[in-house]
Amino acid sequence: MSAILDEFQQVGRDLYAAGLVSSHGGNMSVRHGEGLIVTSHGSRLGHLVQADLVEVRPGLEPRVEPSMDLALHQAIYAAPSEAEAIVHAHPRHAIALSLVGMEIQPQDLEGQHYLGVVPVVPRGENVARALADALRQHRIVVVAGHGSYARGDSLWQALQWTSVLEESTEVLWLLRVLRPDT
Ligand SMILES: [Zn+2]
Repeated sequence: MSAILDEFQQVGRDLYAAGLVSSHGGNMSVRHGEGLIVTSHGSRLGHLVQADLVEVRPGLEPRVEPSMDLALHQAIYAAPSEAEAIVHAHPRHAIALSLVGMEIQPQDLEGQHYLGVVPVVPRGENVARALADALRQHRIVVVAGHGSYARGDSLWQALQWTSVLEESTEVLWLLRVLRPDT
């Protein structure tokens, strides 16, 4: 468990330090046996401790209240994909762009190489299914006006896609300032 805690703590610190989540925003999980381990509701990703990690599996009553996004994480793991870990963050440039289009097309080399086109799915009651479906084909998806959900073979990889997305969307924003017709 200490290796798992270590990864949650390091990735959480990086997410917070990079401004990809607010003080109490975002959440993370890893697949674990028949269930998953997810951050608790309201935990501070930049300052995680053991008590902030909640194991959720059939027949086990969670020790503390899991993240409100638990159902989304479960839907993503239930869909056939390579998801072993999920990072949900609030990257601000990506959120802004998600409010003006139904997909994000990175123009920088790294974004094009690692992400390709990033789908934007609407908020609402069907968000779990829409997210899970989109993440079968894509490494990261943005829920409009809310934030990103990245899947990876580890939290580190999901952090990488989140970080690349925010860099790409900041470049897109700068590009629109320089070339308003972009
Ligand atoms: Zn959120």
